[in-house]
Amino acid sequence: MVHSKVVIIGSGPGAHTAAVYLSRAELQPVLYEGMLANGTAAGGQLTTTTDVENFPGFPAGIGGQELMENMRKQSERFGTEIITETISKLDLSSKPFKMWTEWNDAPGSEPARTADAVIIATGANARRLDLPGEEKFWQNGISACAVCDGAVPIFRNKPLYVIGGGDSAAEEAMFLAKYGSSVTVLVRKDKLRASNIMAERLLAHPKCIVRFNTVATEVIGDSKPNGLMSHLRVKSTVDGKEEIVEANGLFYAVGHDPASALVKGQIETDDEGYIVTKPGTSYTSLEGVFACGDVQDKRYRQAITSAGSGCIAALDTEKYLSELHEVPEPAKEKI
Ligand code: FAD
Repeated sequence: MVHSKVVIIGSGPGAHTAAVYLSRAELQPVLYEGMLANGTAAGGQLTTTTDVENFPGFPAGIGGQELMENMRKQSERFGTEIITETISKLDLSSKPFKMWTEWNDAPGSEPARTADAVIIATGANARRLDLPGEEKFWQNGISACAVCDGAVPIFRNKPLYVIGGGDSAAEEAMFLAKYGSSVTVLVRKDKLRASNIMAERLLAHPKCIVRFNTVATEVIGDSKPNGLMSHLRVKSTVDGKEEIVEANGLFYAVGHDPASALVKGQIETDDEGYIVTKPGTSYTSLEGVFACGDVQDKRYRQAITSAGSGCIAALDTEKYLSELHEVPEPAKEKI
């Protein structure tokens, strides 16, 4: 069993920003990047996208994979130890905190590592619907993030669709209306779940149409490799009638699942499973445990906000560790 001052769990922009700061502060962080943790490659959500155009510093944009490879190199450059394993069990009931990897977590097994502080940066996953055609047209017309992808040329002046009936769906639809020729929101039920104010704004928006009692059943498009989606099959939930509509973009706004199972019941999470942090900080409900990135952010969910919160987590951790290892004044005098 090995002991570290600080372990970072996760491998997205939050985790790597924390790693850069902590390694530059000579705290020898260890980062578990995961081995297809939650179904996503090490590097996190950005490894599943092509161009990232809104991360500052890259005027021509940068591929999501390349951006994450760069972050990983930067973490390593300052001495972060990166381990390509998934943390499957975490015991926060006593200090030092204990953790096990998925290869060795049988009951009674020794923990793989202990740590004085842990940063949870395990991210979140956008929910998918597993529609026929979804796999083929994912990122070729289908997206789970209007803010990230809405401005790309394939959506300009084209009919776009949003699936969902909550505040996110309303917000995404009105955002997309800046780019598309029209935005149709498909709502399974006969009413929106969105707050009154958002629902009113959406219904009054001149470029947004809300189709109640309607679901998407298939994504259709160019069958060539990397071909784009062009149509959507939709179905009425009332009479089962189907039709094919022209659609060049499909945005899912059906929620995210924060990857917080590791800490469930050990630190405070909200009713959707997001880790609760003290506003403006990375402090969780348990001293020595910090959180950053999408696992604690249900509002912004961007690479840059995750990176920013990773910086906050590193600085909060640094302060915590310096206080933990501070030699008390009387003892100092004796030395
Ligand atoms: P994540 O990126 O969520 O990564 C966390 C990773 O940690 C996991 O994926 C996994 O690999 C690892 N992990 C999880 N659990 C464990 C464990 N138990 N042990 C070890 N490792 C673990 N944002 C933008 O700003 N611009 C964009 O253009 C943009 N495009 C996007 C396109 C797509 C398709 C998606 C899905 C998201 C996009 N985003 C974009 C959002 C952005 O990717 C996220 O906000 C950001 O990646 C969140 O970072 P994070 O640090 O929370 O970690």
